[in-house]
Amino acid sequence: MPRSPDQVIRPEVLALSAYHVPPAKGMVKLDAMENPYSLPPELRSEIARLAGEAAINRYPDANAASLKDVLRSALPIPDGMDIVLGNGSDEIIQLIALAVAKPEAVLMSVEPAFVMFRMIATFARMKYVGVPLKADFTLDVDAMLDAIVRHEPALIFIAYPNNPTGNLFDAAAILRIIEAAPGLVVVDEAYHAFAGASFMDRLAQYPNLLLMRTLSKLGLAGLRLGMLVGRKEWLTHFEKLRLPYNVGVITQSIAERVLQHHEVLLRQANVIRTERAVMIERLSVIGGIHAFPTDANFILFRVNEATQVFEKLKRRGVLIKNLNGSHPLLKNCLRVTVGTPGENACFLDMLKASLAEFEPASPLPSY
Ligand SMILES: *Cc1c(COP(=O)(O)O)cnc(C)c1O
Repeated sequence: MPRSPDQVIRPEVLALSAYHVPPAKGMVKLDAMENPYSLPPELRSEIARLAGEAAINRYPDANAASLKDVLRSALPIPDGMDIVLGNGSDEIIQLIALAVAKPEAVLMSVEPAFVMFRMIATFARMKYVGVPLKADFTLDVDAMLDAIVRHEPALIFIAYPNNPTGNLFDAAAILRIIEAAPGLVVVDEAYHAFAGASFMDRLAQYPNLLLMRTLSKLGLAGLRLGMLVGRKEWLTHFEKLRLPYNVGVITQSIAERVLQHHEVLLRQANVIRTERAVMIERLSVIGGIHAFPTDANFILFRVNEATQVFEKLKRRGVLIKNLNGSHPLLKNCLRVTVGTPGENACFLDMLKASLAEFEPASPLPSY
């Protein structure tokens, strides 16, 4: 008899649950930090033409040389720094983890943070150490420095701004962490376009610093393109682990063209930033809600009965993210992506209607 999956699959994999993506058909989808805007019609026709002409019978350019050139003109990548491209930045997190995953090696991040840091530590057989943020979601520098001494992490991930809290950590605090870290520190700037702060210009100064960006939150989530920027000494080793042709022909060709019109994406990001301010303002006048400061394209907020509010919103056709129960600091917290003005207004209306159902005066609560 061959062995059963339970006997063959690694126990830590058996214990995992797959990354859950809830169905969203027909809903106002504000759960995944997507840019709600499509590209201008001229650019869309151009993309259609490029897709039609793409040599999909051939393997893509394994080095994506032409796309990297365009990235260098679109982004302030310092001279002398290399680029590794990934099928989304998730893949890059995994590449780095695989490269440093000696037995007992530690991957460290803060808690709460992007869930893939912890998951990928498990994929790569690394030990995960999550250092709790303070209750106001700022970095607990002393706890971080302490944990660095105690665990000597091979790899530290810091999202800047952080997901799911939305805030930028204090840059000076991050520099202290980089200086204290015996291994690599990766600053994950997935939400850079909404924050306007970056560690890009620190790369030259810190030999153990790497920087990650993605096009996903900027309006190209469906293309799957993430990038790592850093010194050749590090990146040559990650390149060896990158599967050949991980970035497809269509992705390379379309990303290249859209990035030649980078300003279109940045203009959309600015519209989202303006809408974010409107939303924060409107949330702040609703009783029973505390919205946390954000530098990303989403807003974390706390209510009294988060799970019930989440369900009520869902029943009204609005999908956001319920973080209640995912970490003690996120008790009764919900996360909403900033959408179009129409989507945001719909969310706010439905939120008010959902909250109203809790008031004693409301007729027959539906739960
Ligand atoms: C969304 C997100 C990513 C993943 O981006 P992809 O490029 O789509 O894989 C990485 N880091 C953080 C902090 C994110 O929120």
